[in-house]
Amino acid sequence: MKKTVLIAMTGFSMLFAGCGGAQKPSGGQTEANIVSDTVPADFKYEVDAFADLQILRYYVPGFNNLTLEQKELVYYLSMAALEGRDILYDQNNKYNLAIRRILEAIYTNYKGDKNTNDYKELEVYLKRVWFSNGIHHHYGEEKFLPGFSKQFFAEQVKSLPDNLIPRDCRAQCEYISADNFIKVITPVMFDPRVMAKKVNQSGSDLIATSANNYYGDGVTQKEVQAFYAAMKDTTNQTPVSYGLNSRLVKTGSGLVEDVWKVGGLYSPAIEKIVGWLEKAQGVAENEKQKEVITKLISYYKTGDLKTFDQYAIAWVEDLNSQVDFVNGFTEVYGDPLGIKASWESIVNFKNVEATKRTEIISTNAQWFEDHSPVDKRFKKESVKGVSAKVITVAQLGGDCYPATPIGINLPNADWIRKEHGSKSVTIENIMEAYDAAGAHTGFNEEFMWSDAEVSLIKKYGFITDVLHTDLHECLGHGSGKLLPEVDPNALGEFSSTIEETRADLFGLYFLADTKLLDLGIIPNAEAYKAEYYKFMMNGLMTQLVRIEPGKNIEESHMRNRQLIAKWVFEKGKVDNVIEFKVKDNKTYVVINDYNKLRTLFGDLLAEIQRIKSEGDFKGAKAIVENYAVKVDQKLHKEILNRYKTLNMKPYKGFVNPVFELAKDNDGKITDIKISYSEGYAEQMLRYSKEFSTLPTNND
Ligand code: ZN
Repeated sequence: MKKTVLIAMTGFSMLFAGCGGAQKPSGGQTEANIVSDTVPADFKYEVDAFADLQILRYYVPGFNNLTLEQKELVYYLSMAALEGRDILYDQNNKYNLAIRRILEAIYTNYKGDKNTNDYKELEVYLKRVWFSNGIHHHYGEEKFLPGFSKQFFAEQVKSLPDNLIPRDCRAQCEYISADNFIKVITPVMFDPRVMAKKVNQSGSDLIATSANNYYGDGVTQKEVQAFYAAMKDTTNQTPVSYGLNSRLVKTGSGLVEDVWKVGGLYSPAIEKIVGWLEKAQGVAENEKQKEVITKLISYYKTGDLKTFDQYAIAWVEDLNSQVDFVNGFTEVYGDPLGIKASWESIVNFKNVEATKRTEIISTNAQWFEDHSPVDKRFKKESVKGVSAKVITVAQLGGDCYPATPIGINLPNADWIRKEHGSKSVTIENIMEAYDAAGAHTGFNEEFMWSDAEVSLIKKYGFITDVLHTDLHECLGHGSGKLLPEVDPNALGEFSSTIEETRADLFGLYFLADTKLLDLGIIPNAEAYKAEYYKFMMNGLMTQLVRIEPGKNIEESHMRNRQLIAKWVFEKGKVDNVIEFKVKDNKTYVVINDYNKLRTLFGDLLAEIQRIKSEGDFKGAKAIVENYAVKVDQKLHKEILNRYKTLNMKPYKGFVNPVFELAKDNDGKITDIKISYSEGYAEQMLRYSKEFSTLPTNND
């Protein structure tokens, strides 16, 4: 629930892009040893582009200034980050691994004409499957279809040697014939009605109609809800995250959890992850970090969710290490009921210089809580342990790769957040890469009302965007409290949208507060308008470039942004706070009164916090359905047409840098080299070869 993804694809100026590059020397180095390690002027961000996707690479400023042990730690954690790749494919859909493997086999063994449409479409489809870790769109959740013919597919499968046909491991990992394989897989890939949606958020049975693999065949939503309701001990003040790390299946004797652990489901991958974590343990920076890794290993070995909570608490308490990581079953966006977590990993280290900014924010957390516009009953008397830092990502894995968040706030368990606080990060080298790649696309000029807005964004777009992310992550998610006896899951399928709305509003409201000026973290009293304008334009119009014609909004972050934008638009009508204006048949957002807009953000924050604190399911449902979901078809069409002229891609993802061990004659590690030259297909094929940890069918 606590992930921020990039708001828009605007072309910010490079003015503040240097922030990310300003990595300061890290622990253990003396001044004399320090080399400048910022983004080289000729660094090439663009890697590949296809369908609605663009692939970028990110630089890792400061890596060369880490100590050898820190570099080793980053290396081992990075290997652990890559070993879980297959888990996510299988979680997303039970046929994903078979499909990826057959496509890769066709792609690498192809001997025919590469100029045919079928072949080109095969390449695009495979690249999309890699990007989405499966056959459903990573963001829209709908299945995307191949552009090549069924016949081409069948011919290619039949031309492969038998040993390249993925085996059926549900029984004995037996070979199945090419004909049988084609029969099973063809409708899964080509028929739009089969497994149409990875995560279905609306309809009668969200489990039965979702194509993810978190629940076995024949399991219904009612059964899942009854199963976990029975498991819950409502008097327990420190409940585990029930069901987080398992697949729920139907057996002769009822529903059973297949736990993801060593010796359980996904064991071959998890054993490899544990192996690398054990190496990481040996080069941990301090005792606390060692404890974090030890507990994580123990959790992977036992599958015990209490141990997972202990790990999460130790992780929150580990504030002194420079290197940090996430590795595990973490976010629940992939399950319409928000119970099962997808596997993900991020390896990073602290950006010491930029972290000063977030430290200022988190040191003042109590001031923000006290001054927020929400009802006193819903405020925290004392805000605990809001730790925030700016990080430099060194490796992405699982559900963070290739599409990645720009901010993270963990852990997700409400009681741990309340009693132990949470760790919040802004990922500046990723934001910086987005910014650099987005410059000069003409996007702002096309969609912004006048030169005034364009120049406002040029001046303050990047810094206020970063600050909004900081406030969202450092303060927003950690603010407020539930009334006693309110079930943390009371908002059900609306909880993610409401939670993101809350965090975004908290950030928006305080972005315009003179407190930020007093704290010296915003350039001047007008700067906030850049983010306000961008947010409103995005929420009312431009984020629709990510939606297919005729479709509604499903994804929770997008729902949250439209919810906010449409609500304040409507409530501001009496005072003409925001309006649509048309010029040369083009629609623009115009903000007439920024002060009143801020007041409206505050009003909505108060209402959203009330809904959350009281667990008001009906209120959540009403506000989401009224404001967040529906798309104005006429405006949508116009936006898509204008966007098309810009030749931009609405989604971006990243290739990872490559690490290589340098060793002396005795085999002792002397350095870890980092390089940035690997291409997209090249990286994906290498990962499939080196980190192919799971059999094709895992149920
Ligand atoms: Zn968030």
